[in-house]
Amino acid sequence: MRIILLGPPGAGKGTQAAKLARYLKIPAVSTGDILREAINNSTELGKKALKFVKSGGLVPDEIINEVVKERVQHTDCADGFILDGFPRNLAQSSFLEQILKEQESKLDVVLYLKTFQGEITSRLKKRKRLDDKADTIRRRFEVYEAQTKPLLEHYTKQRIIKNVDGNGTVDEVFERLKAALSNEQEIK
Ligand code: AMP
Repeated sequence: MRIILLGPPGAGKGTQAAKLARYLKIPAVSTGDILREAINNSTELGKKALKFVKSGGLVPDEIINEVVKERVQHTDCADGFILDGFPRNLAQSSFLEQILKEQESKLDVVLYLKTFQGEITSRLKKRKRLDDKADTIRRRFEVYEAQTKPLLEHYTKQRIIKNVDGNGTVDEVFERLKAALSNEQEIK
């Protein structure tokens, strides 16, 4: 299955993507994790990405698109993958569609984790990431509203989006995600 996990910052996408990956035996591809690792190791990618990640802005499409292209072409993604943090805007979603078309594959489902603002903010405050400072958090929400949210409409039109209640414990949310996926398999 080729899955996208969508949702605002702090919705728990990373945690759920890792759990789903173990459950479905396909890799979770987290662009945030890839960028943070590159930054920690001071690679060329890390050096280019640092200022964007630190400020809460988006790393330019031409940089992140190539990272994702290379990653999903890796053999471990042959049977599917879970994308966490990509696409972040409509241009990235078009790029993804193009890569998948070249592979003669397509997306199966977009899982949208819907969460209350309060829950999100308290989760973010508990983390200790370089982009979890108050100003940066604000910027990440602005970017989400302006650039990422239009993806909801895009995938709704394609009829591949599933809304999942992202409030509650990690296990509760995971059960809901599994239920959304099992409905998906029944329909197919
Ligand atoms: P995340 O862990 O998904 O919240 O991502 C952390 C940060 O990495 C974001 O605030 C962006 O600066 C950068 N980032 C992650 N994914 C992308 C993407 N698909 N496009 C551009 N920037 C990204």
